Amino acid sequence: MHEMSLCESIVQILEDESRRQGFRRVLRVRLEIGQLAGVEPEAMHFGFEAVTHGTIAEGAALEIIDLPGAAWCLACSRTVAVTQRFDACPYCGGYQLQVTDGEQLRIKDLDVE
Ligand SMILES: [Zn+2]
Repeated sequence: MHEMSLCESIVQILEDESRRQGFRRVLRVRLEIGQLAGVEPEAMHFGFEAVTHGTIAEGAALEIIDLPGAAWCLACSRTVAVTQRFDACPYCGGYQLQVTDGEQLRIKDLDVE
């Protein structure tokens, strides 16, 4: 489950930020996760709770914002919506798709004190 190590890197970022910005506790983390990032939101919640134990983010709420996937279809010359990495184009049924959006995983903002 790679979500666990993703959560560990998030906590690392939070601890670095707390030193830089001088906050002592993280109350809420809003994460943007693209549909094509290959990340299971439920596993993120589970991992987050486990790895924040005993850190500045212990008890913090994790909010996940789902971002839709998009790809450029070479055959149709248009941007199409995709929900999985190896989806076919919904218009022509082809597989000449280049993913253009939906692979991100990033911290959008934090509530701290
Ligand atoms: Zn197409």
